[in-house]
Amino acid sequence: MSLPVGDAHSHANPARGMGAAEIARRFRGSGGWFMAILSLNPWSYGIEPPGFEAYMRVVKLVVNECSRAREQGLTVKCFAGFHPADVDKLVDRYRVRPEEVLRLGLRVVRELRRLCREGVIDGIGEVGRQHFKTMPERVAIAAAIMEEALQAVEEGCMVQLHLEQAGRATVETVNVTVSRLGLTKRSLIVFHHSTLAMAEAAASLGYQATVPGVPSLLEHAAGRTEPVFMVESDFIDDPRRPGVVVYPWVMAEKVRELASKGYEEWAWRVAVDNIVKAFGVEPP
Ligand SMILES: [Zn+2]
Ligand SMILES: [Zn+2]
Repeated sequence: MSLPVGDAHSHANPARGMGAAEIARRFRGSGGWFMAILSLNPWSYGIEPPGFEAYMRVVKLVVNECSRAREQGLTVKCFAGFHPADVDKLVDRYRVRPEEVLRLGLRVVRELRRLCREGVIDGIGEVGRQHFKTMPERVAIAAAIMEEALQAVEEGCMVQLHLEQAGRATVETVNVTVSRLGLTKRSLIVFHHSTLAMAEAAASLGYQATVPGVPSLLEHAAGRTEPVFMVESDFIDDPRRPGVVVYPWVMAEKVRELASKGYEEWAWRVAVDNIVKAFGVEPP
C-alpha cells in the first residue's frame, strides 16, 4: 500500500479560492486521506461587518466546506476559531475598541464550545497568540480568548493553537496555563505551525504538534527527528494573499517521496499514525 497522507491543519475559501471540494479532489489525487479544515476570519470570505453574527456565519460556511471535502472521500475534522491576528485587524481596520474585541472573542469562543459539545464542529482553532510584534494589550486579549478556548478540551473538544515561535518557552508558557486551569486532556491540544524544537517540547509534555509540510523542511526532518508530530499544509486557498506555506498535494507528494527513499517508518508515523491518535479517526 503506498502511503496515504494526512494534513493536520488546512483552510478552504470558496469565496476567493478553489474551495474544499476542489482541494479535496486534488489532495485525494496525490494520496491524501485526512484533512483538518479550520475556519478563516470572516472578512477573508467577504463576510462583513465582523461581529458575532459574522463569526457564526463562518461556522456554517466551514461546516459546509467540511461536508464538501468528505464527499470527495476524505476523512475530515472541522474547526472554527478566533485567530489572534483578528484582534489586531478588528482594532486597526474595523476600529473596534480593545475591550469590545475581548468581549467578542470570548462570546464567540463560548459559542464554539457549545457547538463542539453538540457535535456541530470537532474542535476550536485557530486561537492563541500573535506571531508578530504587536501592542501588549492585544497579546493579553488573544491570550484571554485562548484560555477560554482551552477549557474545551475537558469537554472532549480539540483545540488548535497558533502561537509565536519561541521554542520551548512558547510550549512551556501554554503548559503553565493548562496546569493552572486544571486541564487534564493535554493530548487534545495541538501546537500548530511548530518548529521542530517546539514539536519535540510539545510531545514530551503530552501535547500534539504539527509542523509545516514544506518540502525542504521535511527533507531536513526525515531521519533526523523523532516522528512525534503531524504535517500540515496551512493552505489558505486565497490567490490574493501571499504566504501559501505549501499546497496540500505538494506536501503529500513530498512525504510519499521520502517514504519511498528509505524513510518509510518515519513517514507513516507523521502522515498516518499520529493523525489517527491525535484526531481519534479510523486509519485509512
Ligand atoms: Zn496559524
Ligand atoms: Zn492556519
